[in-house]
Amino acid sequence: MARNNRPLSMTPAAIRQRLSRANATGERAAQRNTAERQRHRTRNNTETLEQRVLRLELNRTRRLARISLETPEQRQQRQDLNRIQTQNRRAAQKLNIANAARVRRNARTIPEESVDEFSCGPMEFRCQYCQSKNFKGEMAADKKFTNCCEKGKIELRILRTHKLITKLMKEEHPQSKNFMENISSKTVHWHLHPWERK
Ligand SMILES: [Zn+2]
Repeated sequence: MARNNRPLSMTPAAIRQRLSRANATGERAAQRNTAERQRHRTRNNTETLEQRVLRLELNRTRRLARISLETPEQRQQRQDLNRIQTQNRRAAQKLNIANAARVRRNARTIPEESVDEFSCGPMEFRCQYCQSKNFKGEMAADKKFTNCCEKGKIELRILRTHKLITKLMKEEHPQSKNFMENISSKTVHWHLHPWERK
């Protein structure tokens, strides 16, 4: 209820957040889904029936309003995103089931210290389309990545930034050094210039 001042159309930041969620590996998605389910369950248990009906109705109205305002491009983005999220959710569910079965099978027979450490290697493989960083194992045979932007199919609009901010950040302003040293949070920076994320 506290979030009813949220904008109706999907902002680039929201899309980016959903993309980064969609980008999670199956394992991480599985963990997050469990945590999210728990959180929702807690909330839903403390809700009255009336609150629940209201919440669901509000969600539905917001969704419909959002969809009605979409450009064809946004609609395509949303559908692509939904598809990826569904795929990931299914993969996560499968993984959860497989993990649970494995834990049951192995619980008594394999001491943890005998399991070899596994490393995914450095996360330094850039997607040529969205510049996301990936593990080598995520790279398809054509050296492209599907988890981030589905091989460039999902293209995020570049956020417009005020000229002054751009100058400050590109060290083209006398106060650039001061600005960058005192910028309150790197997160703000990344929000403005996601392509500069290192
Ligand atoms: Zn990508």
